Amino acid sequence: MNAEEFRAAGHELIDWIAHYVEGVEHYPVLSPMQPGEVRAALPASPPDADAMPDSWADVMADVNTVIVPGLTHWQHPMFAAYFPANTSYASILGELMSAGFGVNGMLWATSPAATELETLMMDWMVELLGLPDRFVSSSAIATSLGGGVIQGTASEGALCAMLAARERITHGTSNQVGATGNLTAYSTAQTHSSLEKAAGIAGIGRDMIRKVDCDEAFAMRPDALAAAIARDRAVGLTPFFVCANVGSTSSMAIDPVPEIATVCQRENVWLHVDAAMAGMAALCPEFRFVNAGLEHADSYSTNPHKWMGVQFDCSLFWVANRQSLLNALSILPEYLKTAAGDAGAVIDYRDWGIPLGRRFRALKLWMTIRLEGVASVQNMVRNHVLWAAEVLEVFAADERFEIVAPVNLNLVCVRHVNGDMATDSLITTANATGKILLTRTVLDGRSVLRLSIGTRATTAAHVHAMMALISDLAEPVRQPVI
Ligand code: PLP
Repeated sequence: MNAEEFRAAGHELIDWIAHYVEGVEHYPVLSPMQPGEVRAALPASPPDADAMPDSWADVMADVNTVIVPGLTHWQHPMFAAYFPANTSYASILGELMSAGFGVNGMLWATSPAATELETLMMDWMVELLGLPDRFVSSSAIATSLGGGVIQGTASEGALCAMLAARERITHGTSNQVGATGNLTAYSTAQTHSSLEKAAGIAGIGRDMIRKVDCDEAFAMRPDALAAAIARDRAVGLTPFFVCANVGSTSSMAIDPVPEIATVCQRENVWLHVDAAMAGMAALCPEFRFVNAGLEHADSYSTNPHKWMGVQFDCSLFWVANRQSLLNALSILPEYLKTAAGDAGAVIDYRDWGIPLGRRFRALKLWMTIRLEGVASVQNMVRNHVLWAAEVLEVFAADERFEIVAPVNLNLVCVRHVNGDMATDSLITTANATGKILLTRTVLDGRSVLRLSIGTRATTAAHVHAMMALISDLAEPVRQPVI
């Protein structure tokens, strides 16, 4: 493809994307494809080396007939599954520009703009979210030893936090000799599975994660945490890491971070706060309760790629003391040495995460903030929270449903009073209509329908349509047989 062909195809593609986004509502939310169908519709082997390359039109024909039907449409206004992964035109442009530059921001020297824009964006986000100063990267805040970095995912953030905590507790020895086998970590049964993955990868061992008891709102009980830590110490184990949830995936549970932080400080245990989606609510000052206790957290993670209109991947990760992270992740072969790095004058983000190579992700955050504006993102978050409260009222007034978790932000969790089969079949039949996508979870051993409101295209009318559909499909209350 030459520059002229690129221009032509690129203009066409921008039109095509705008058309897709505008018309996404007309697709079934869930892809109707069966396993293997997408692959079977495409050639089994790559083109012959001497064959003429395909035309843009040929490729787009396959996109339209094979790829698009194989998509589950996360931007669909009736997408109420999992968690939001919303995007915006501004962010798409940032992503495109990053691809166009094709730079690798592994070191400051390999693209100063990639590093410095990323650092600036992390500081902008501290301000926009109202986070504590201790997370600021800029040396202008003399009291901050911390800093932030854009990771691909919250899972990587959890892993980096665990590695930093492991190095801190072992005084820098575990990188050299391996993990010691007596370190214990604490979370709840509601914590995202990425923590178990991290414990496996970090050599801590999944069995060394203690699932601390929760209260009736699925939030960690600080007294149970303290007791679990004491039990482990009593048998010679070394508690080193707590992961607190702010907005758990299943039920949006919010752990009492201030009280958990008190336990962690007393016990010299690293506190990581996972607010993958819910942390974004702090864009609105009235929802800053999600930040409670962060002034005592060692690390914090939240994802613009969930609820800020910045498409995947863009996960913000902050540490209160950058040295702990660098101790765990720095490694400097000769071929990566630079004068600026050696002088300690710059940030080299290769030391702040798992991979060496780094995409220029800050562009899409910068473009979203500048081109969409903060108010537009705040309004989106406010509307989602408002509509979730309305949905809660509708469910609460319907005798067929039972609310199973507090509605802290934009997620509503209910079950059918007839039991698991009624809940499960409601989810399955609703999803089979292609008009909505819901997901199921299990809380207290029972099936739960989760309705997560978080797509940018969703309006009040869509939320009403969701509720009308659910109401039509839910079975009546089964009367007890006398
Ligand atoms: N933590 C929570 C609370 C989540 O809801 C999720 C996503 O489901 C994650 C972590 C993992 O997010 P990521 O895909 O960014 O790794």
